[in-house]
Amino acid sequence: SHTIRVGVAGYGNLGRGALAALARCPDMRLAGVFTRRDPASLRLPDPSTPVYSLDDAAAHRGEIDVMILCGGSKDDLPVQGPALAQWFTTVDSYDTHARIPQYFEAVDAAARAHGTLSIIAVGWDPGLFSINRLMGEAILPDGATYTFWGKGLSQGHSDAIRRVPGVRAGVQYTIPVPEAVARVRAGEQPALSTREKHRRECHVVLEPGADPRQVEQAIVAMPDYFADYDTTVHFIDAATLAREHAGMPHGGFVIRSGRTGTAENQVMEFSLKLDSNPAFTSSVLVAYARAAWRMRSAGETGARTVFDVAPGLLSPQSPEALRKALL
Ligand code: NDP
Repeated sequence: SHTIRVGVAGYGNLGRGALAALARCPDMRLAGVFTRRDPASLRLPDPSTPVYSLDDAAAHRGEIDVMILCGGSKDDLPVQGPALAQWFTTVDSYDTHARIPQYFEAVDAAARAHGTLSIIAVGWDPGLFSINRLMGEAILPDGATYTFWGKGLSQGHSDAIRRVPGVRAGVQYTIPVPEAVARVRAGEQPALSTREKHRRECHVVLEPGADPRQVEQAIVAMPDYFADYDTTVHFIDAATLAREHAGMPHGGFVIRSGRTGTAENQVMEFSLKLDSNPAFTSSVLVAYARAAWRMRSAGETGARTVFDVAPGLLSPQSPEALRKALL
């Protein structure tokens, strides 16, 4: 059977994670890494891996079955998603929840026009958490859904603060508000505002001469990322950042609390505890790359989300084998 030839576009945390995840999938093969930087400047685990300029990606379309897009959601994917969908079947982890509909439209237009297929917003949230929210609401229509994140370091939000002028480096932690979690787990179904469920904590190293009040204001007022939360900004030095904030743990849980029959309480919960958020997210991307290739091979084109992908397509096993082993 065909070994799926996978390209990786963008070599950051997700790009590194994608290479590690691919190495554990015998049905897939890394065909090349694409970067906006000088290809010779990247240090890959296997020095024989081909590294190409992203500008030359189109020339390699015949060598790649699926391209995994590992760029950042804020500035990279809005450009790279629709551009690369012209030439490749793609999967990406676009995670700016509020803008997913617009992003979907842009990628869908490119994929339809060029006969490719793209699965967007893959990962754990959006991604596996989205699927569990959907399941909870479909199965328990009389109820309430709660998503709690953390405590964990958010890649998207850390990315966002690092782009604020005056910020040299920084990380952002998402922290569930314990009182809110306790009420939900007790089956209370409380109405909780965004602000009541989580707070955000930033640890920032300033550029020399930067005004801390200006930086703090730019962070806490940022739409989509921080404006709807209680956000605290701590200014620290580079040594403290390196010593205390180098890991990228994350996790969280989706809870659907609902009622059936006359009044039975039914609680569904899905939870993740991740030592490395990007290593896990890229593992999800690799599984969906398998599905994307199968869907494209079956003649499908256009953009999709995780809602549109049948679970069996994620597995390297055949439908027959899955029926025997897992049903
Ligand atoms: P990074 O910042 O590590 O990488 C983003 C891009 O920046 C890379 O593709 C790379 O592009 C470039 N880059 C990386 N390192 C360097 C460097 N040292 N110097 C210059 N450029 C560099 O982001 P992550 O990989 O951590 O995350 C990517 C996105 O994944 C996030 O923005 C987030 O939106 C999403 N995500 C989604 C999740 C989900 O559950 N859906 C969970 C976690 C993340 P190039 O090689 O072209 O230079």
